[in-house]
Amino acid sequence: MSARPLPGRDLAAAIRTDTAERAAELAAAGRPPKLAVVTATADESSAWYVRSIVTAAGKAGIACEVVDLGPEAPAAEIRERLESLSADGQVSGIILQTPLPGGAKLEDLASAIVPAKDVDGANPLSLGRLAAGLPAFAPATAEAVVRILEHHGVELAGRHAVVVGRSTVVGKPAAHLLLDRHATVTVCHSRTADLPAVTSAGDILVAAVGRAGLITAEHVKPGAVVVDVGTNPTDDGGLVGDVDPAVAERAGALTPVPGGVGPVTTALLLWHTVRAVRE
Ligand code: NAP
Repeated sequence: MSARPLPGRDLAAAIRTDTAERAAELAAAGRPPKLAVVTATADESSAWYVRSIVTAAGKAGIACEVVDLGPEAPAAEIRERLESLSADGQVSGIILQTPLPGGAKLEDLASAIVPAKDVDGANPLSLGRLAAGLPAFAPATAEAVVRILEHHGVELAGRHAVVVGRSTVVGKPAAHLLLDRHATVTVCHSRTADLPAVTSAGDILVAAVGRAGLITAEHVKPGAVVVDVGTNPTDDGGLVGDVDPAVAERAGALTPVPGGVGPVTTALLLWHTVRAVRE
C-alpha cells in the first residue's frame, strides 16, 4: 500500500485566487490591504521566508512592508513598533518573525499586536479566543492543517486526531481547531510516555515537532491520515518533514514536504490579511 498524497499546492492556489480578488475589491473601494512583517533576526531561513511572503503578497496585490529592526533590537523597541503598527490605519495585518533577539518569547512581544491585525494568531489573546470558540485569527500553519484535511475530504467529526507537538504556533492551536471540528483530540510532546503507543491510536496524525524522521511506521495506525508539518533543512539544501518516508507504506494518506502544509500556510496569511481589513 502506498499512501494517497495530500498536496497543498492546489488548495493554496485557490486561496490565493480568492485573496487577489478580495484585495482588488478592497483597493477599488479605497481600503487596500497592507501587511507589515516585523523582523529582528539575521537568521537565513527566516529571511528566506520573509522574501517568500513579500513575493506572494505582491502577486496577490497586497502591499507588504518589511520592518527590519536588526538582530540587536531591544525587546522594548520591537514592542513599540508593533504598537505603532497596530495603531496605523493603513496596516491591516502584522506578523512578527522568529527567532527574536535575546531569547525574547514570541507570545510575550506579540501581545503588542492588536488581535484584529494578528493575522498569524501570535497574540496569546488570539489563542485564548480560539480556545474559547470565539472569532480569532488562528496561526496560519495550524489552520493549514485542518484546511488541507477538509480540502481532501478527510472526515474529522468523531475521528481520533493525535497531534505531536504543543507549541503555541502549531500544536495547541491545531488541537483546538480539530476539536472545533468535533475530532477527539490527543496532544503529545517530548514527555509523552511511549509515543508510538499513543500516536498509533490516531485515525489522523499531525506531526509538528521539527525532527526529521521522528515519526516512523511504528507510530502510525495502518490506513491513518498523516499531516506532516515539520520543515527540517537537509545538508544538501532540501527540506524534509518529521515523517519518515517509510510511513507512506503504512498510512492511508500523507501530506508531502515540501508542497503540503507550507504553501497553504503562506496563502492563509495573506487571506487573513484581506479579511482583517475593516468592513
Ligand atoms: P517547537 O516550538 O520547537 O515545538 C516542538 C514541539 O515538539 C514541542 O511541543 C516539543 O515538546 C515537541 N517535541 C520535541 N521533541 C519531541 C519528541 N521526541 N517526541 C514528541 N514531541 C516532541 O516547534 P514549532 O514551532 O511548533 O514547529 C514544529 C515544526 O513545524 C518545525 O519543523 C517547524 O519548522 C514546522 N513549521 C512549519 C511551518 C510551515 O509553514 N510548514 C510553519 C511553522 C512551523 P515540548 O513542548 O515538551 O518541548
